[in-house]
Amino acid sequence: MKFNTKLIHGGYSENSETGAVSMPIYRASTFHQKVLGGEPKWEYSRTGNPTRAAVEKLIADLEQGTAGFAFASGSAAIHTVFSMFSAGDHFVVGNDVYGGTFRLINKVLKKFGLEFTTVDMSDLKQVEAAIQDNTVAIYFETPTNPLLKISDIAAVAKIAKSHNIKTIVDNTFATPYNQNPLALGADVVVHSATKYLGGHSDLVAGFAVTNDPAIAEEIGFLQNSIGGVLGPDDSWLLQRGIKTLGARMRVHHENAAAVVDLLKNDDRVAKIYYPGDPDFEGYEIAKKQMKHFGAMISFELQDGLDPKKFVEGLNIVALAESLGGIESLIEIPAVMTHGAIPRDIRLKSGIKDELIRLSVGIEDEEDLIDDLKQGLAQL
Ligand SMILES: *Cc1c(COP(=O)(O)O)cnc(C)c1O
Repeated sequence: MKFNTKLIHGGYSENSETGAVSMPIYRASTFHQKVLGGEPKWEYSRTGNPTRAAVEKLIADLEQGTAGFAFASGSAAIHTVFSMFSAGDHFVVGNDVYGGTFRLINKVLKKFGLEFTTVDMSDLKQVEAAIQDNTVAIYFETPTNPLLKISDIAAVAKIAKSHNIKTIVDNTFATPYNQNPLALGADVVVHSATKYLGGHSDLVAGFAVTNDPAIAEEIGFLQNSIGGVLGPDDSWLLQRGIKTLGARMRVHHENAAAVVDLLKNDDRVAKIYYPGDPDFEGYEIAKKQMKHFGAMISFELQDGLDPKKFVEGLNIVALAESLGGIESLIEIPAVMTHGAIPRDIRLKSGIKDELIRLSVGIEDEEDLIDDLKQGLAQL
């Protein structure tokens, strides 16, 4: 099965008993066991639920893994993956990972004795130099948020393997439509399925996927022990969203290309960050490891132009956090998603006060372009 067919027919897509083409929602907490002490397939819904199992099998197929796990949020997935490790274990982490992941690391995981060094993941020398005797894994995102920096997954995984440590990739921005980290040598992929996988800005969910049986056993154990599982209703909604991932991504990409074209040719725009722009630093690596470049675009206006006026002046593109939904969303990281980072640290990592992040939706291209044009004209 090719990818777009897998989106629809992968996992357990059909109910074997009735032939229903959509998986039923099994809203049961427990299951009737016919014999005492047997090995029933289903016993209790934290441990396993048929609706959740369907979407878990689907994400495993899509990421070319052997086991998938669905969680109540991306953050719960990431927390559960880090729970495989112990006090005294050290991690090399991308210096621009998602803000919530940063908070999880600094305010939660450090309390339990996990140790972290942050590095610029696009610089392989820095990555290798940060590895210590007690390093157990490298954790990063590519493309990153909001600067869309690219790191070479295969090269990082190779460094990790040579030190006998694991590679964990947050694949939220690329989605399995565009990039499969496991196929490039990573050991674990995590997702905020809240974004492109769900795709409609109507649910919060997360995934972890692996192709390593020992890791699968461990994550399964932790998913059941910690219990941050995705409920059956949201599992069903997520599977429904994933079925149209391919159709959505194709329109996201078309619209993103038109938006990049507009921004590149408008002299009120000073700089564009988009992995599909041949002038962008990570372009060559992105081209090598991604099928397409996604639909997240960041840009800066010329000095003296007010980004607040621009984002508030748009009619169709909504001023909002989050990303990856069918509707176009725009935000100013310095004030919104990355507002909690101290200004000096934020500026050092390249996120200027003027930076604007745009998640290009699947509205009609003409309407999006017209809206952005009239917003720019107001400046
Ligand atoms: C949103 C996001 C997360 C966190 O996911 P939630 O579903 O909000 O918990 C993690 N990583 C990335 C890259 C994200 O964009």
